[in-house]
Amino acid sequence: MISVLEATQIIEQHTPKPQSTIKSLSEAAGLVLARDYAASEDSPRFTNSAMDGFAVRCEDSLSGARLPIMDESSAGREAQSTLAPRTAIRISTGALLPLGADTIVPVEDCTVENGAITIQKTPVQGQFVRRQASEYACGALILRTGQELTPARVALAAQHGVAAIEVFTQPTVALLSTGNELVDVSETPAGTQIRNANVPMLTAAIRQTSACLVFTAHAEDDFEQVCAALDKAASAADVVVTTGGASVGEHDFIKQAAQTLGFETMFWRVRQKPGKPMFFATRILEGRTTLLFGLPGNPVSTLMTFLYYVRPTLARMMGKSTMERSVQAVLSADLANMHGRAEFARVRLKYEAGSEIPEAVPLPKQDSNMLTSMTEADGFVFLDIDAAVQSGSRVRVVLF
Ligand code: AMP
Ligand code: MG
Repeated sequence: MISVLEATQIIEQHTPKPQSTIKSLSEAAGLVLARDYAASEDSPRFTNSAMDGFAVRCEDSLSGARLPIMDESSAGREAQSTLAPRTAIRISTGALLPLGADTIVPVEDCTVENGAITIQKTPVQGQFVRRQASEYACGALILRTGQELTPARVALAAQHGVAAIEVFTQPTVALLSTGNELVDVSETPAGTQIRNANVPMLTAAIRQTSACLVFTAHAEDDFEQVCAALDKAASAADVVVTTGGASVGEHDFIKQAAQTLGFETMFWRVRQKPGKPMFFATRILEGRTTLLFGLPGNPVSTLMTFLYYVRPTLARMMGKSTMERSVQAVLSADLANMHGRAEFARVRLKYEAGSEIPEAVPLPKQDSNMLTSMTEADGFVFLDIDAAVQSGSRVRVVLF
């Protein structure tokens, strides 16, 4: 049996490098940029007004001055004339500053009567004028490789005419559940049957990563069936996630089926709780690498191992440094790990008014068959073998 650290390192070693592709801006949102982008024009593109008001010459505009309004410059429609001395041109936010003008008097700082303004407050030279290229000049680096395409970055790309953008591709994922006892959520279990919770759970978890789920199947505990389903899954996706059938039971066929299909076992069983019977294998076929995560069947173990191993792997394949979202918290009770296996201790976060960081409250029922240890929790604390963390200590909580 290997340690959590060893398992993590083996997975990292075998994770394929991110591949880049061109996508439309809307499809690329949330993905990671695979190249740098330079500004195609200055920002602002042209000198314009930061306020609704009047374009004037500062020297004409002492408090009490009366200036006739000669023209208008509105957004998208520039003034026809240049500004003559001792006159004003009405201007709106974002509209081109007329030639001859150097200052904006906002509507709040003047009165308007009979086609003229009277200045109420002497302006400062150049006020409310946004100069061309004052933010950055054409050619400046505006978006960088490795940045996630957030809504603001989508807007910046759009401003510069980048309609198709180079990002790292989303890995494709196939999902395979196993077990004679399982029925679909839409069916009523008879006798000792139970409903398949892992498929809907992992479908949701995969969706959160922005990877593409391209194949889902269920196989009975039958070697031929598992082989056939796994074969389809492996030819459909970059990453195959299976649940159940990875343990030592007579009916556990995932490892054997994987070997038959040409996968090489990288490890089986990890010193961790929950999730001990986890299995990891890889296959390189015609230059294409497929990763296989054989997760345990208990939904708690399935989700914990997915979050700890599969989620960061998918993130790395998309060029994200990690998808682990975590917060610092103060532990509300002692936590000790004497199981001889590393532990993912599930905690609830409590935010007290006035305190800077949340409290991490360990949940009492942590058995791997108790799904409420996940539904009532906000995340988990990683406790290594023999670790003892005292109440009041700072811990890092990885969020679900
Ligand atoms: P296994 O790893 O196949 O031995 O399964 C371990 C436990 O998880 C058993 O109690 C199974 O019934 C349960 N289990 C396996 N797969 C699922 C699933 N897809 N949904 C809910 N429970 C499952
Ligand atoms: Mg099973």
